[in-house]
Amino acid sequence: GGPHTINTMVDVATAPSLLPTLDNARTRELDKKHVLHSWSAQNAINPPPVTEASGVRMTVDGTSYIDFTSQLVNVNIGYQHPKLVAAIQEQAGRLMTVSPAMANDMRSEAARVIAEVAPDGMNMVFFTNGGAEANENAIRMARLHTGRHKVLAAYRSYHGATHGAITLTGEPRRFGSEPGIPGVVHFFGPYLYRSPFHATTEAEEGDRALQHLREVMVAEGTDKIAAIILETIVGTNGILMPPDGYLRGVRELCDEFGILLIADEVMAGFARTGEWFAINHWDVVPDLISFAKGVNSGYVPLGGVILSDAVAGSFMDTAYPGGLTYSGHPLACASAVASVSIMKEEGIVEHARDLGERVIGPKLRELAQAHRSVGEVRGIGVFWALELVTDPDARTPLTADQMNQVAAACKGAGMWPFIAGNRVHIVPPCVITEEEFAEGVRALEDGLAVADGFVA
Ligand code: PLP
Repeated sequence: GGPHTINTMVDVATAPSLLPTLDNARTRELDKKHVLHSWSAQNAINPPPVTEASGVRMTVDGTSYIDFTSQLVNVNIGYQHPKLVAAIQEQAGRLMTVSPAMANDMRSEAARVIAEVAPDGMNMVFFTNGGAEANENAIRMARLHTGRHKVLAAYRSYHGATHGAITLTGEPRRFGSEPGIPGVVHFFGPYLYRSPFHATTEAEEGDRALQHLREVMVAEGTDKIAAIILETIVGTNGILMPPDGYLRGVRELCDEFGILLIADEVMAGFARTGEWFAINHWDVVPDLISFAKGVNSGYVPLGGVILSDAVAGSFMDTAYPGGLTYSGHPLACASAVASVSIMKEEGIVEHARDLGERVIGPKLRELAQAHRSVGEVRGIGVFWALELVTDPDARTPLTADQMNQVAAACKGAGMWPFIAGNRVHIVPPCVITEEEFAEGVRALEDGLAVADGFVA
């Protein structure tokens, strides 16, 4: 048929493939020529092609590795989970696209299952395409609900790369987008190992961080502040575990001043920490939760905001002034429905918790004893960091060049590591078995031996 023939009866099974086969050299060549990558100078990078992956293993440039990264800490369910792939294929055959102005069965069901695993009193979901958009919408909701405009966010944070989300982000990646949106104020969160408060115990760090936060709130005008947004457990910036009592204290400050609490669970949510949401570990209920990544392991782009009933109430008689063409996309929502179902069926949340407590935590602490370069071990579930230092007393971080050598040693031994600053984050798919973890750790030890060589 010509260009005006629309064949609505395509037989998917026998349709000819339109996808060319590229070898790795061609992939690299076209990547260099046409693909603009994020955060790195084009000429400084040469991204290796990933051609296949299954479970916790991926093939990078022809070599198979145990993946200790889950890509960007999103493949919680592992690669090519057969049931998840099948659900996506099934939905593709049923209905590929529908606008958010219409209702859709998989969107309804995805919202239901997400609300079901969310804390009590959080029953409504606004869908986005990823984490940054989730945070954009979360702060807009908070501003509309409170009628205030300021938002507090932590210096050690990453909230995404759209204009508002990168302004919320406190780490240096925000500099390239400054000046950002008005009204964002940063504060220091707790981080005992490099304490901004010169504290010596976790309890002291937590108390001083809360005192500091109160002072920032008062100085900014408590009645000007719509929300505080924080990563329940700071992810990219170090897997920083909040001291016990910190999140409860933040909740109390918010309640005292009528400020909303937004929990950014984009990285920590959906099994990563051994809970559906990391904030459950501390029994604190936020007003808004942003999620993405683990909700469907990134098989299809999806994120969203879960609203408390009170905040959702603001948009019952007044429109929520925001929307996205692909909000609640049927393919993405079907993948979320299937993913949550698989996580329940296979006990992936419980597995992550058990593995963290019984295997990962003890093993990493053992490594810290055996390797002089390991300054600190932090984490929970399948969400851990090793901080590498050349001087354990001064806590001098390894340099970028030294970290590259650590990474090369891990890769040489068959494990793909997640490097962030002077840290190795241990963030494999949450479905990793004890045996697979042990295999990855043997490679990690090669990396740590290299790191030890840098200790003065
Ligand atoms: N929030 C957190 C805590 C994240 O870790 C990330 C991504 O790494 C984001 C937000 C941004 O999500 P996305 O890249 O899907 O926009």
